[in-house]
Amino acid sequence: MVSPARAKALEKLGVRTLRDLLTHFPRSYLDLSQVETCASARIGETCTIRGTVHEIKLKKPRYNLKLVEIALVDGTGILMVTAFRQPWLMDQVKAGDEVAVSGKVTFDYGYKRMTNPFIEVVGEQDGPSMAGAVVPVHPATEKLSAAWVRRIVANGLEEADGAFDPLPLGLRLRYRLMSRNAALHAIHFPRTMDEAAEARRRLVYEELLYLELFLMQEGAERARGATPTAHVVDGRRVGAFATGLPFALTGEQERARDEILAAMAASSAMNHMLLGDVGTGKTVVAGFALAAAADTGGQALLLAPTEVLARQHAEGLGSLLAAAGVSCELLTGSTPAAERASITGRFAAGEVDVLIGTHALLSDDVQPARLTLAVIDEQQRFGVDQRARLLAKGEAPDALYLTATPIPRTLALALYGNLTLSYLKHRPHDAVSRSTRVLPKELQGEAFDAARAALARGEQVYVVCPLVGKSTAERDEKAAGKASDADAAGEEYHPVVAIEGEGDFDDDVTAATKEAAMLQATTFADYTVELMHGGMGADAKRAVMERFRDGEVQVLVATTVIEVGVDVPNATVMIVQDADRFGLAQLHQLRGRVGRGTKAAEVFLVSASTRDESLARLAAMETTDDGFELAAYDLSLRREGDILGNRQHGASGLKLVNIMRDGAVIEAAHADAAALLDVDPCLEEPDHRAMAREVRLAFAGETVGG
Ligand code: ADP
Ligand code: MG
Repeated sequence: MVSPARAKALEKLGVRTLRDLLTHFPRSYLDLSQVETCASARIGETCTIRGTVHEIKLKKPRYNLKLVEIALVDGTGILMVTAFRQPWLMDQVKAGDEVAVSGKVTFDYGYKRMTNPFIEVVGEQDGPSMAGAVVPVHPATEKLSAAWVRRIVANGLEEADGAFDPLPLGLRLRYRLMSRNAALHAIHFPRTMDEAAEARRRLVYEELLYLELFLMQEGAERARGATPTAHVVDGRRVGAFATGLPFALTGEQERARDEILAAMAASSAMNHMLLGDVGTGKTVVAGFALAAAADTGGQALLLAPTEVLARQHAEGLGSLLAAAGVSCELLTGSTPAAERASITGRFAAGEVDVLIGTHALLSDDVQPARLTLAVIDEQQRFGVDQRARLLAKGEAPDALYLTATPIPRTLALALYGNLTLSYLKHRPHDAVSRSTRVLPKELQGEAFDAARAALARGEQVYVVCPLVGKSTAERDEKAAGKASDADAAGEEYHPVVAIEGEGDFDDDVTAATKEAAMLQATTFADYTVELMHGGMGADAKRAVMERFRDGEVQVLVATTVIEVGVDVPNATVMIVQDADRFGLAQLHQLRGRVGRGTKAAEVFLVSASTRDESLARLAAMETTDDGFELAAYDLSLRREGDILGNRQHGASGLKLVNIMRDGAVIEAAHADAAALLDVDPCLEEPDHRAMAREVRLAFAGETVGG
């Protein structure tokens, strides 16, 4: 039995049911078979050291910073342990306790040290922790020590012993997987690290299989009863659109077009993602799909995340489509009411083929007469519910997602289940060179020299302002010893959502305003500098964008609102201030604003950081221009939870999976799920029922009961 206070604390860890408890997996292990002594531990290496607490002290180097310092001794010497943001250690660890600490050994101020290691009191005789040489470290909190969590997990395992293994025997045999029971025991209390790895292998496969089953069943459910459209894909307007293009498609674009049109021609609902780095020319490929919808007598919606982008589509793509006989309209939040009523009225009457717009498209007054295609541009910017709302406006419409987030195929499968994919890996203007340089702050003058040279040639310049404000505190802590790595210690952990690295940064309007004024007064005094930031209204932003596109404004100072997809070919230089504060994916998106024309472009990433990791990360931007490579690199630097943000549904049911490492398992689970549903779409066979229940429990938000 657990006291109400502890039950509450457990709930904070997401543990409410026995099932939650059993999947409350250790965050790491202390491998006591690999213990070093204070003397033998090598500086720069990660190891476990066991010793006695000689002294433990709470220190406050600054008013908002607390750290606990432990002096650990063994027969051979002393190790200083510093733990940031875990003041409760003062209650959980006492002088005289025997503890094991695991982390990287450094040498500072005359001592070997560990900063924010995993700390475990190992002297207790009450837990199963000492059964083997491996001590699991379960996520714990201030109120619940890891040792206590370990104990109730052990109780939970006892209670669940003998439970039925939901995974069909055939699959277990094929991959030589442990039984569920054995795996749960072994992942919580492994005797060796190998055993833990084997347990993980079984549980990861299981998680992924259930996720794929869930996503596929959900997709089938959505399509049930509705009749998808088999599109005409070689009609008059598709032909006219092709003829009217001002350029020839690249081979990759042709292939993507063919794949999409083939999926649209099929009589099942299309669920297709077109992945391509910024500037690879996804829009025009989508144009073929839109024309095919019109040829079929259907209608289409094209949803874009921002007003600037929607407008750009309406002007560029919209006029190409119009020339091919496809009627288009634009609907955004700033469309005047009377015009809006007229547009939605004509759309409802079937008089408009394609409606392009922002979130305004999601509102109830947008009621197509016969929606057969929904295109979502920059789909990573939309939530699952928004996607669902758009698709609900038609009867099983085909869906085409465009994304510049270079997610690997395995991640796409993990997030979306049944999905077909096309990739654009090269830009149409690959011949154009774009160089990227990382500059320390004191050399930023070189960037501004390059900018002035470009301006003198009649070209234009972006200056992207630093993200001040939001993470200053974080930076302080970093300076004080990387405390932000201390997510250990059981702080509630909110994964940084979205691999695209487009968190909602607070635009620091003041800083950007100052920067713009300063640049106008000094460096670019003889040119026109304007400012664009997220706090501006849509009209004001559009006006600035138009002046920039028309060349009236030569220097655009902006926060990250320089929209994905914004296309001004004459802009050739971009200077990003405080570049280390951006994710690589975001920097790559940003630099995609330049080098879009036929002129060579230069990107300067200015950073005042002296941290090796930050600079190494930025250096990756210099060495590769391949968004997929950068994304993989970014992913490899992140913790598991970060990758599948909880914004994406399904993902919350994944506890162990690592998208990069487990790619092969994802592929296998995907294929196995498809095969299972092929023979038993509702998972009703006796051998599958337990599995169906697991799928619902893990992903459909169902709770145990009855
Ligand atoms: P993104 O994939 O980032 O959405 P866009 O669709 O905006 O890229 O295309 C980027 C630019 O490349 C646009 O100006 C577009 O007109 C141009 N473009 C697209 N395809 C080709 C092509 N095959 N040849 C030449 N230019 C192209
Ligand atoms: Mg685009």
